[in-house]
Amino acid sequence: MENLREVVLDQVKLGGTCAVGIATTETLAGGPESADITKILPGAKSAISFAYALDTDAIDLFLSKKDRMPHERNNIDINNLASGAALNLAGFIEMKGYQSVPVIANNYYRSDTPGGLLDMMPDISQRYIAVRSGVGTFGLSGNVITPKQGAAIILGAVVTTAEFKPTEPLPPEKSYCDECRLCMASCASGTMDNEQKTTVTLGGLDFEYSKRKSYLRCEYVCGGFTGLHPSEKWSTWSPGRFPIPENDEEFMPALMNGLENYAKWPDMGGGYYHSLSPYKMFLTCGNCQLICHPEKEERKRRYKMLKENGVVVQNEDGSLEAVSPEHAKQRMQDLPPERRALYETV
Ligand code: SF4
Ligand code: SF4
Repeated sequence: MENLREVVLDQVKLGGTCAVGIATTETLAGGPESADITKILPGAKSAISFAYALDTDAIDLFLSKKDRMPHERNNIDINNLASGAALNLAGFIEMKGYQSVPVIANNYYRSDTPGGLLDMMPDISQRYIAVRSGVGTFGLSGNVITPKQGAAIILGAVVTTAEFKPTEPLPPEKSYCDECRLCMASCASGTMDNEQKTTVTLGGLDFEYSKRKSYLRCEYVCGGFTGLHPSEKWSTWSPGRFPIPENDEEFMPALMNGLENYAKWPDMGGGYYHSLSPYKMFLTCGNCQLICHPEKEERKRRYKMLKENGVVVQNEDGSLEAVSPEHAKQRMQDLPPERRALYETV
């Protein structure tokens, strides 16, 4: 078993990952429901967690609002890579005689929660497995951050009945999170609570990160239905300018309104199909993740790029461009009322 463990860890590293670790039913014990790996594989004993880094040049183009497409493409490709690597590894371990299940990297949800698929709860939390196994630590954002690539990673995992020895979580001094709060500053939706924290206990160890307000906040903005920051000085890649409500309860109607208008926008190019959306989706945010680099100066540089490169508007042919906040306002005012109403409350 020890030999197989070493081979599995090496196999994952050879696949170009930037971090790998192993959690077990013991090290995940006492955690939330989505830390229970036996839910997706009865008799599971351990889970291998790994991370692939996202392309930093594409992140620069995305945050500076020069070009959305390279990061969207890279993000989709790396998610596919992580899911494919999980499938491959699960097959490998199965061939060695242990039942194994690959975890789909993203956009796969449980149907047995009160709201069903619409709750968008993953069947298993890759974040819990990753922090408990030492792939990364929790940043204040709640994203998994790694010592070299920061939060700009995609996680993958395999759950198996093989009883592998766990790897250690990273010691606190390996976490670079200094609570700079740039993740919060770069979130137009206010999803992360600025004050309160959530504690998760996994295998007797406590992990902390900022409490999430309603997840609908992120769905509204990260879903691309709106993107204008409440300051009106910058936006995500969404050309939507609908207001961000103050209260959590106001997000469902806002989301419904956003969705109705989003469906009428011209195609902005690229995109992907999401199982829960009747329309093609486009990557327009992820800022909290993309901002968070191990070097504080780099974090600040990325935030500055996001904040100082204006507001995205959509041309009639669907293409997007970033213009100054004043120019964006004027362009909206110059649109015929029915077109303007597709992007902002008139
Ligand atoms: S952006 Fe700053 S506060 Fe947020 S997770 Fe990263 S280091 Fe922590
Ligand atoms: S993905 Fe965007 S909207 Fe969602 S929490 Fe991060 S910054 Fe906020």
